[in-house]
Amino acid sequence: MKLIRFASLVVIVVGLCATSGTVFAGSFDRSVRTAENFEPTIPHPDQDQEVARKLANLAKKMGKKPNIVWLVVDDMGYGDVGRYGGGIGVGAATPSMDRLADEGLRLTSCYAQQTCTPTRSAILTGRLPVRTGLTRPILAGDKITENPWADEVSLPTILADAGYTSLLVGKWHIGEAEGMRPHDVGFDEYYGFYAAQKEISQRVDKRRYPDLVIDQEKFAAFEELGIGHSLVHGFKNGKTKNVSSIESTEDMGRADKVLADFTLDKIKKLAKDGKPFFLEHCFMKVHADNFANPDFEGLSASKYPYKDAVAEVDMHIGNIVKALEDNGLLENTFVFITSDNGPQMDAWPDGGYTPFRGAKGTTFEGGVRIPGIAYWPGVIAPGRESDDVFDLMDLFGTALNLAGVSRETLPDDRYYDFVDQTSFLLLDKGRSNREAVYFWWGSEFMACRMREYKSHVKVILPQAPHMYIDLALIQDVGLAPWLFNLYIDPKEEMTVGHRRNAWLATLGAKMKAHGATFKKYPPKDIGLGM
Ligand code: CA
Repeated sequence: MKLIRFASLVVIVVGLCATSGTVFAGSFDRSVRTAENFEPTIPHPDQDQEVARKLANLAKKMGKKPNIVWLVVDDMGYGDVGRYGGGIGVGAATPSMDRLADEGLRLTSCYAQQTCTPTRSAILTGRLPVRTGLTRPILAGDKITENPWADEVSLPTILADAGYTSLLVGKWHIGEAEGMRPHDVGFDEYYGFYAAQKEISQRVDKRRYPDLVIDQEKFAAFEELGIGHSLVHGFKNGKTKNVSSIESTEDMGRADKVLADFTLDKIKKLAKDGKPFFLEHCFMKVHADNFANPDFEGLSASKYPYKDAVAEVDMHIGNIVKALEDNGLLENTFVFITSDNGPQMDAWPDGGYTPFRGAKGTTFEGGVRIPGIAYWPGVIAPGRESDDVFDLMDLFGTALNLAGVSRETLPDDRYYDFVDQTSFLLLDKGRSNREAVYFWWGSEFMACRMREYKSHVKVILPQAPHMYIDLALIQDVGLAPWLFNLYIDPKEEMTVGHRRNAWLATLGAKMKAHGATFKKYPPKDIGLGM
């Protein structure tokens, strides 16, 4: 089994390094395991107390729990956002995201999984995809052997018990069968598209897919697959209706405006309702295939559809945050802006920019390091920035804390990978409570980052420039892991190896401990395999 291979590889690595006598576990690794089934955390008792006081004072002032808003862009690159080295310099200004970064916390070591479904499921369960079975994007014709949600406890389900209304607007991409839809798994309301843009638009895009669209026999067979191309409006325990459908590339280009308008209107209603809410707004853009919204064509300096998409998403982000402000919600709302994985370079030039090695589909930094902006005027100090590690799964733990939910209330028969990062995100001098980020590719364990070091035991190597998904190989590394120092080599090109770094064995021990969690809590297979 692959996991056993993973475990034995790490044992070999640790054994190899132990011979040099460099074992530093316990000093370099600051984290402590406080429960068998939770990711170890770096103890910060002062931070914990201070943030608890801060939230208690806020609750006293506001009289209710804070709202939680996640704005998730699809496939946006680290280097697309102005404050992350992109913006006007790469032909698509991002004034809204730049302003929110300036007025909030800009995370520079924020990590996603390397593709869509894994990230989207991980942030709603606080668990790695290999544990939930949602190891890769669900594609047309995929046969899933069991509903992964049948025994997962989603964040909106937990928040409902804490008095929250939950909505998901936009892209879902975690299954469109009954029982797997957002409003089946805890969200009170869903308004969006189940699949990614390309999955929807290919049936109407004869320029890119003539062999599908023009060939009537193939088109009929494709329609049999039943991939939804409708804008769906669904309610928990209620009706699910198709509002409209994508019948042209122009419709696809306009989709994000339709979704943003829904969210803007909804924010007004949520403000009137008065209940705390969790809103996850997931943009369709900037996942390939991008079509400029015909009403905003040429919005970016670049004029390329991808760049216009970045500029449009940035505009909607600005409008959504303004709506929160206009409706008096901003001072009691935690806002987080991010992307679900790195840019899809296979789709270039319909792909984003990352300064790092690799892209979507790889566990090099280009695939997994993404922008992460936390914004909450009056609570998060403006101008903060941190290179402490943050895994998007930590949004789950942070949401629990904000909602006043103890992790002890979660089912104890499974392992949780999230870390509560409330104190890191909200305190002026908050530090990350996470010591390690683990990188997986399907059911293959790939790499681990601790502090500025990242050790790879497997790598994805493209066989042609930029082809990280369609023409790439997954390969074992050699005798020693590929160890990089991301401070002196953010592009992961020059290994510091086992000779020029003291921490190889410590990272090896961390990976081994991570692998050991799967013995008592085995991974779930829902047929996506890999
Ligand atoms: Ca994605």
